[in-house]
Amino acid sequence: ATPTSIMVGTGRAAELGVLFRKGDALQRLDDVRVVAFDKTGTLTEGRPELVRSEGFGMSAEEALRLAASAEAGSEHPIARALERAATGTTAPQDVEAIPGHGLRARVEGRDVLVGNARLMACEGIDAPTYDGIETPVYVVVDGALAGLFGVADRIKPGARVAIDALHAQGLKVAMITGDAQPVADSVARDLAIDHVHAETLPDGKTNAVKDLRARYGAVAFVGDGINDAPALAEADVGLAIGTGTDVAIETGDVVLVSGDVNGVVTASALSRAVMRNIR
Ligand code: ADP
Ligand code: MG
Repeated sequence: ATPTSIMVGTGRAAELGVLFRKGDALQRLDDVRVVAFDKTGTLTEGRPELVRSEGFGMSAEEALRLAASAEAGSEHPIARALERAATGTTAPQDVEAIPGHGLRARVEGRDVLVGNARLMACEGIDAPTYDGIETPVYVVVDGALAGLFGVADRIKPGARVAIDALHAQGLKVAMITGDAQPVADSVARDLAIDHVHAETLPDGKTNAVKDLRARYGAVAFVGDGINDAPALAEADVGLAIGTGTDVAIETGDVVLVSGDVNGVVTASALSRAVMRNIR
């Protein structure tokens, strides 16, 4: 690899909004066999909307109000979705985030739990299975199921085009998400993704990267969240979404400035062009 051609390649990439923070990433990208994407905020907008509501023993509106109150301080996209849909929320107390599961807080003297099916299982709550392709959000008030909500996130325009282009380059495409399996499967179907790791716990994304490496070879991982940082570090090449969290951006070998996933295609194509000139 001549230093000059790599400099030209990384310079051209920068003009296109793809920042190579580590010089050897352009070379390592040429060896990559599979590109793994985080889902929420990377392939989807990360701004889910409430699409289904059901109350148990109280109105759906009241269950939503208590849930959104409990989530008032949370930065999770689900918290924002509940907050936008609810009215009359109050400040929570004793808030305890339960990573990969949800959150617990006291609201108006009541014990409120908000989270996924795994949280219900952990707490021994007998909750119905959600039958849609949205993300289920269960709400428990003082130990009893009070609400079941569905939130849906839109796929980013351009995601399908980017994945088709990666396939055309001969690459496999995977998705790694903490979200429920039916949600992951639905997004994967729409985007023609080859391999899905769903319901991964926050510390499980690195294991998913290792599994993909064993299956396909060198792995590029694309992510935006705090919980994506370990996978960005574990991957052979980590690409951070520039509109994502500071932790992800600091960990990435490559930063996609505009937040557009097509930056992955640009990075990969440039890497191939540069390395082909060299060999
Ligand atoms: P991801 O960002 O890949 O969805 P997370 O670990 O943040 O992974 O969350 C995994 C799942 O846990 C979410 O899909 C959601 O069902 C649940 N969850 C996590 N945090 C919250 C929260 N604050 N409120 C509601 N549900 C949550
Ligand atoms: Mg994300």
